[in-house]
Amino acid sequence: MRTSPPAANDPDNFPGLREALAGVRALVLDVDGVLLMKGAALPGAAEALTALDARGIPFRVATNFTAAHRGTLAARFQAAGLPVPEERIVTAASVSAARTAATYPGQLLFVITTPDGRREFDGQLVLPFEEADAPGARVAAVVIGDGETDLSRANLDRAFRLIRDGAALLAMHRNPWWFTSRGPTLDSGAFVAALEFATGVRAVMCGKPGPIMFRTALAGVAADLGGRVAAREVAMVGDDPAQDIVGARRLGMRGVLVLTGKTNAAAAAALGRGARTGTGAHRSRAIPDAVAPSLADVVAALD
Ligand SMILES: [Mg+2]
Repeated sequence: MRTSPPAANDPDNFPGLREALAGVRALVLDVDGVLLMKGAALPGAAEALTALDARGIPFRVATNFTAAHRGTLAARFQAAGLPVPEERIVTAASVSAARTAATYPGQLLFVITTPDGRREFDGQLVLPFEEADAPGARVAAVVIGDGETDLSRANLDRAFRLIRDGAALLAMHRNPWWFTSRGPTLDSGAFVAALEFATGVRAVMCGKPGPIMFRTALAGVAADLGGRVAAREVAMVGDDPAQDIVGARRLGMRGVLVLTGKTNAAAAAALGRGARTGTGAHRSRAIPDAVAPSLADVVAALD
């Protein structure tokens, strides 16, 4: 079955969806704007996931959300009717925890995120906030995520001193703001920038669009496929050119932009004009390999 191209998918600029996806064996899926919108499943998303399972096409869900453990997110997906088990979820919090476990085994960490998000660090040595005030307190790394009330002046000041005393700085992500029930809301990336400004230390970014999260998702689908997959054989499906498409294409994955989230048809058409004219290496990475109306159309167009 051939899906009809979306109105924004100018055939002069983007190849057809089916051609753009030829040879793709696995998918990495963004959450907001691809599977969910304001906590509710997008039309066709649940059926698309079920179709992937039925066809034996592995996928991972990759999100910069850090304020909850993957088990909590899996339960939320389930409540929204989306069959996404915990082991298929990769978050900026889970990749940060995997990074510290691999890089600083057995060493103390200072982690600012919600209590539920901090459960990703279970089994690692996380310094209680107040103990950072003890004379001579040191940690191997400071990790910054969406700490809500724990992302306080007092805790940022503790993080600042620990970094000055030699701790590495890890950012779960660098998002400056996002939408919550309160409207546009300051996100933890703004606090990462503040710590970088004050310490002169550049943070290692674990989430999108950095390579760590995409490599983790690639390793996951490779394991499902028996151990090997080329990046080119995996497509990232997202609604954000700067986060989803740039990050995926930098590693050699294909990037498919869907129009169910923050990018509308007019913005996608503008990217299409960029695809035709070609304007610089960074700019070109934000240009997707294809544009699709929704995840359901992407899945329908897979070989
Ligand atoms: Mg999104």
